[in-house]
Amino acid sequence: MFVDHVKVYVKGGDGGDGMVAFRREKYIAYGGPAGGDGGRGGDVVFIVDEGLRTLMDFRYQRHFKAPSGENGGSKNQHGRGASDMVVKVPPGTVVTDAESGNIIADLVEHGQKAVIAKGGRGGRGNSRFATPRNPAPELSEMGEPGMEREVVLELKVLADAGLVGFPSVGKSTLLSVVSAAKPKIADYHFTTLVPNLGMVETEDGRAFALADLPGLIEGAHEGVGLGHQFLRHIERTRVIIHVIDMSGLEGRDPYEDFVTINEELEKYNLRLTERPQLIVANKMDMPDAEENLQRFKEKLDDDEAQIFPISALTRKGLDDLLFAVADLLETTPEFPIHEIVEDEEHSVLYKHESETPDFEISRDDDGAYVLSGYTIERLFKMTDFNFDQSVKKFARQMRGMGVDDALRERGAKDGDIVRILNFEFEFIE
Ligand code: GDP
Ligand code: MG
Repeated sequence: MFVDHVKVYVKGGDGGDGMVAFRREKYIAYGGPAGGDGGRGGDVVFIVDEGLRTLMDFRYQRHFKAPSGENGGSKNQHGRGASDMVVKVPPGTVVTDAESGNIIADLVEHGQKAVIAKGGRGGRGNSRFATPRNPAPELSEMGEPGMEREVVLELKVLADAGLVGFPSVGKSTLLSVVSAAKPKIADYHFTTLVPNLGMVETEDGRAFALADLPGLIEGAHEGVGLGHQFLRHIERTRVIIHVIDMSGLEGRDPYEDFVTINEELEKYNLRLTERPQLIVANKMDMPDAEENLQRFKEKLDDDEAQIFPISALTRKGLDDLLFAVADLLETTPEFPIHEIVEDEEHSVLYKHESETPDFEISRDDDGAYVLSGYTIERLFKMTDFNFDQSVKKFARQMRGMGVDDALRERGAKDGDIVRILNFEFEFIE
C-alpha cells in the first residue's frame, strides 16, 4: 500500500528539573545554594532520507516523543541534556501543523533537517536565584515542558521513471495496470499532471513513481507556474521506459518508432537521452507481435537497451520489467538541469507561533474559575510547589501577567476557587 498522507503526534522532551540544594561541608553548618540546572529535553527532528519513497513506516509508528533532560543535582551539577529524536522521512515530505494548517517544513533534499517539536529547556537550580537579599533561596524551576502537537505529513511525489513512446502504444494502459495508487497531489498546483503519474510497488516491496513523460511535458506547457515542479520531475526521472507497439497494426515500423522518439527526446534539451533506457515491447498478445519483435531485435545494436516483451492488456511480463526499473533506480543518480537548480530555494518554513493570549479565563460548572493557555500552563508546569518561595514567585508572575486583575474583572471574590490544569487554589484579595 502506498501511503502519502499521515497524521502523527510529536512531543519534544521535557527539560530536567532544577534542584534546590545547599552546600554541606564539614565545618560550614549551612553553606550556600548548590542546586544545579536541569538539562534540556531533546528535539523531535525530521531528516530527509532519499532511500525512503513512501510514508509507509508511519502507519505503525505515529507517536514520537523525544527523551527528557536529566534533573539537576546537588553540588551544582547540571543535568545532562537529552539527545534529539531523529525521524527519517522521504524526500518531498511537507509537514503541516494539524490544528492551524500552517506549513512547518518542506523537506526536499537528502540530509535536510527541521525541528518539528522543540524540547523544553532545563529548569534552573537554586544557585541561579541567589541574590544579596536572598542568598539561600529555596527556589528552583521545574523543567520546561517540550512542545507537543499533531502534524500532518504529505508526500509530494516526483516521477522516478518516465514512459515515452508514440501515441496509442499503451503507455496509459501500462501505467494504470502497474500503479497501485494515485498519489494525492492535487494540492500541489500541477493538477493537470495527476492522470499521468502513479505509484508502483514491486513484488519485493520496493516503490517508485512512474509518469507518462509526454503527459508531463504537455502538462507543463499548459499549466501556470509549473516550471519548477516540472523541472524537478524531469531531474528526478532517472530511468526512461520506452514503450513500443509490436502489433504492427498502426502500419508503422517499430524500429523507426524507436529512433524517432529518441530524436525527439534529444530535442527537449533536458538530458533525457543520458538516462538509462529500457525498451518495452508491448502488445505481445497480438498475432504478428513475435515476428515484429524478432525483426526489431535484429536492427537494434546488441547492447543498446534491454528489451522486455509484455502485454499491458493481459498483464504478462510486468514483474520482470518492474524489477529491472527498481534495480536501475537504485544505482542511477539524478540529472540536474543546472541553471534552474541554482535559483531554486529549498527553504524551510517555520511556523510563526500564533498570537495567542498568555491566558484565558472560563468557568467550570461548579463555579470555579479556570485558567488556561500555553504561557500560563507552561509557567505552572515549571513551578515546584514543594517550595514556598517557588509558589510565591508563581503568584508574582501571574499578577505580572494581569491574571489577578482579569479574575477580579470576571467577578472573582475572596475565597473563590481558581483552577489550572488539575490544580486548585483560592483567590485571595
Ligand atoms: P497511449 O497513447 O500510449 O497512452 O496508449 P493507450 O494506453 O491509451 O493504449 C492505446 C490502445 O492500445 C488502447 O486501445 C489499449 O487498449 C491498447 N493496448 C494497450 N496495451 C495493449 C496490449 O498489451 N495489447 C493490446 N492488444 N492492446 C493494448
Ligand atoms: Mg496515453
